[in-house]
Order: sequence, then C-alpha cells, then structure tokens
Amino acid sequence: MMVVHYTIPVFVPELGCPFQCVFCNQRKITNRKKIPDAEEVRCLIEEYLASYPRGKHHIEIGFFGGNFTGLPLDEQESYLRVANSFLESGKVKGIRLSTRPDYISEQGLHPLKKFGVTTIELGAQSMDEEVLIQSVRGHTAQDVEMSSQMIVNHGFRLGLQMMVGLPGDTLEKSLFTARRIIELGASETRIYPVLVIKGTTLAEWYEKGKYKPLSLDEAVRWVKQLLPLFEEAGVEVTRVGLHGATRLLRGEELLAGPCHESFRELAMTEVWWDRLKGIGQREEGEVILISVHPSQYNYAVGYYGRNRKRLLKHFREVRFGKDLKLKANEFWVEYF
Ligand code: SF4
Repeated sequence: MMVVHYTIPVFVPELGCPFQCVFCNQRKITNRKKIPDAEEVRCLIEEYLASYPRGKHHIEIGFFGGNFTGLPLDEQESYLRVANSFLESGKVKGIRLSTRPDYISEQGLHPLKKFGVTTIELGAQSMDEEVLIQSVRGHTAQDVEMSSQMIVNHGFRLGLQMMVGLPGDTLEKSLFTARRIIELGASETRIYPVLVIKGTTLAEWYEKGKYKPLSLDEAVRWVKQLLPLFEEAGVEVTRVGLHGATRLLRGEELLAGPCHESFRELAMTEVWWDRLKGIGQREEGEVILISVHPSQYNYAVGYYGRNRKRLLKHFREVRFGKDLKLKANEFWVEYF
C-alpha cells in the first residue's frame, strides 16, 4: 500500500524575527496576519487530521514562516508541547520547523529534542558571503556550516533551503551553494527562485532599476542544473518554487520574477531533455519507446508534452512507458 505524506502547516509569521531580508515580506507570503496561540494550533492540527482520507499516512506537523528558534523559549515550548501530544498519541510521526542558521545553539537544541522535533530546516539561501551581504540576511555562510553540524550531530534530519537569483547571485554561485548543501549533510532541500514581492526592499530596488530578477527561462536553466546534483547525492528536493502561493502572489502581491504554477515541471522537463536529446540525433528507427521510472513519466514526456514534441521532429511516433525497475535518473529506449 502506498504511504501518503502529509505535513500540517502551522504558520508563525515573522514571529521572533528581527530581520527584514530584502526579498521577504513574510506576512504576504503566508497571508496570515494573525499569530496563532497554542490552543488555536491544537484546533488547526485537529482540523487537518480530520480532513485526511483513511489510509496509511505519514503525517508531520511543520512550523513554518518565521524564525522558530528566535521565539522566547516559553513560546517555543507551548507550541511544541501541543505538537508533542499528537506525536505521543501516534497521530503524527514527526515535527519539523524552519528557522535561521544564526539562531541554532547547543543549548537551544535540547528543548527541540525533548519535544520530539525530527527535522530542522534552515534558510541557508546562499553559501556565498557576498550574496548574503547584498541580501541583508544578517548571517554568514559559516553560521550555516556550524548550525548544520550541530543539527546533524544531535541526530535531527537537516533541511537546507536555497534561493536562486538573489542580488549578486550567479549560476556558478548557485551551483556552489548546492554542492555545499550536499556536503553539509542535508537530507532535504527546497529551491526558491527569488520573486519580487510588493512592500519588500527588493521591490524598491527593482523599481529603481537596482535589481533585476531572473527571467523564467533563466531560472529554469539554473534550477535544471541544480536538481541532478541533489538527485545524485540522494538529497530530497521537497519543493521547487512557491507553488502554494502562486495564486496569491499573482494577484496583487507579485511585482516581478520567475513565478510559475508548475515551476518544478518546467525545470524537470529540461532535466529530462538534457538526457533525451541525444536520442533525436541517432535516428535509428521511425518509432521509439522510452521507458522511465513511473515517478519521472510526466517529466520525461515534458510540460504539455514538450519533450515528446521535440522528439517528434526526428521520429514518426514517440511513446513513453513506465518501468519500476529503473532508477529515477535512468531510461531505456526501444526502436521499432
Ligand atoms: S529571517 Fe526569514 S522571516 Fe525574517 S525577514 Fe528574513 S526571510 Fe523573512
């Protein structure tokens, strides 16, 4: 039976965060102006649990949106106590939280361990000092290194988020960031192309011509080079782009930037085209069947069939099949 993964999202927007990174307007991203108290969090979790269909699930509670470990200890504990009660009763299997790399300490990790936190995600964003400075992140790459080490040493699962297209960023710097994320022992990552959101410093810079976001094509070209690195290293990419927020942002909040509902599909289409384009040059038959792992089928066919259409320039018929025996990055071809 297939195990479905759910994360119950609990947003604590800008709580405890004294920073204003140039790209961030956390309240607009989460669309939650009010900060929930522990009782509201309990009700929210109950509501989510009741909404899931019956079956075998892996459910986690995730505290997102701000700087969790920057909260006063008693507030952290009141949230975690609620989450822990669901863990103890077996209704959820894990607790995750996101926080800043400069808000991790040996001492601060103990309560997280005590209440059963399983995964800690850090907003690393870039491992290039210059990019961090220009983005007014307020932490260094060394902060990311030290906190990652502590998190891994204490037996938590480590997640490191990265952004592409920050001020001063280049493709090479993004590739370097991805390699460092792998070396630091992350089990998972999220990749966010930078969007210009109204009310942020970046929006001011954009309007004054001081900052230019990546185009959608550029962002796809960058991200398609990052994804295979993580895949080969066994680092799970849990998100690419701000999927959930796209509708919100497209209306009034988004000023500019590579925002697309299906950003991951676009990037994976190009990852697969890099693998498949050699077939088109061989022209060994009129009809081909390309088999891939079922999880990769849509990506291989391409967004709106883009890769199939590209191959149809060389073949009369292009079929795709699924083969569970193949690894995610493997394929085989039959010619007819
Ligand atoms: S630390 Fe996080 S929440 Fe705070 S301003 Fe920066 S991105 Fe936003």
